[in-house]
Amino acid sequence: MANTEGRQPGKLVWHVATVESITVETYRVKTYRLRPPTWASFRPGMHYDIRLTAPDGYQTQRSYSIATAPETRSVLDLTIEKIVDGEVSPYFHDVVVIGDRVEMRGPIGGPFTWTGSMGGPLLLVAGGSGIVPLMSMLRHRDSTARHVQTFLLYSSRSLDDVIYREELDALAEAGNGLQMAHTFTRSAPEGWDGYARRVDVEMLSDVFNRLGAIGRAYICGPDGFVETAANALVDAGVSPERVRTERFGPTGT
Ligand SMILES: Cc1cc2nc3c(=O)[nH]c(=O)nc-3n(C[C@H](O)[C@H](O)[C@H](O)COP(=O)(O)OP(=O)(O)OC[C@H]3O[C@@H](n4cnc5c(N)ncnc54)[C@H](O)[C@@H]3O)c2cc1C
Repeated sequence: MANTEGRQPGKLVWHVATVESITVETYRVKTYRLRPPTWASFRPGMHYDIRLTAPDGYQTQRSYSIATAPETRSVLDLTIEKIVDGEVSPYFHDVVVIGDRVEMRGPIGGPFTWTGSMGGPLLLVAGGSGIVPLMSMLRHRDSTARHVQTFLLYSSRSLDDVIYREELDALAEAGNGLQMAHTFTRSAPEGWDGYARRVDVEMLSDVFNRLGAIGRAYICGPDGFVETAANALVDAGVSPERVRTERFGPTGT
């Protein structure tokens, strides 16, 4: 694997990638498979910057995590949630079609990355589209590091908001040391007997006990979600240096 230790945006150049496919994940989330002109290896958890340029020269850019594992070479997936009053995510959802070309630079990232050689036990805590970089870690684990004991706690508004639902179900059913729990913050499915509230200390203590020990914890999602989950994890007894966080936006899930 190329040396991607702590890659920072300023040192990277922009490339033009082609949109190869578009997959509808949920009613407000789509995955864009991009083929960059040259392949750069990366660590799960890293992201790319995407830059849009209007006909009058106005430019804007946003960061999007890589959803695929490094083992999926040549192409990479970005999974984008539509923020209705946003600038870039609605452009992707409403304008971008297969064959379009988009400017990107990366991979970017440092502390919020995990590879199988870093071991575990691994706790992944996702809020909404915060599942994206954690999915890259789970896909990488499934390809190369199934021995690493892992727990995914995934907070969504409802079952219809769960991204990668079928793939996550299949990974959880494989019975190879991956445990998973969903929590639903707005509406739980009929007859649901799992968590149905925002992530809190009690929930994380429960998960901590089910995993037995925590080598590394990665929390990703909206600002408020990450803040609450990280504090709750430390309150549940996990030492702060084991906890890595990535924040996507201003609101809570
Ligand atoms: C390292 C990193 C990785 C990221 N990876 C992903 C990813 O994999 N998938 C993904 O969908 N997003 C991801 N994001 C968020 C993404 O960069 C954009 O912020 C998001 O798509 C909104 O951009 P926008 O131009 O549509 O909205 P903007 O024009 O930036 O914002 C419009 C309005 O929406 C609010 N807003 C902005 N972001 C959010 C949000 N996440 N939730 C709710 N309200 C918001 C703003 O405060 C503003 O009021 C990532 C962010 C970072 C920093």
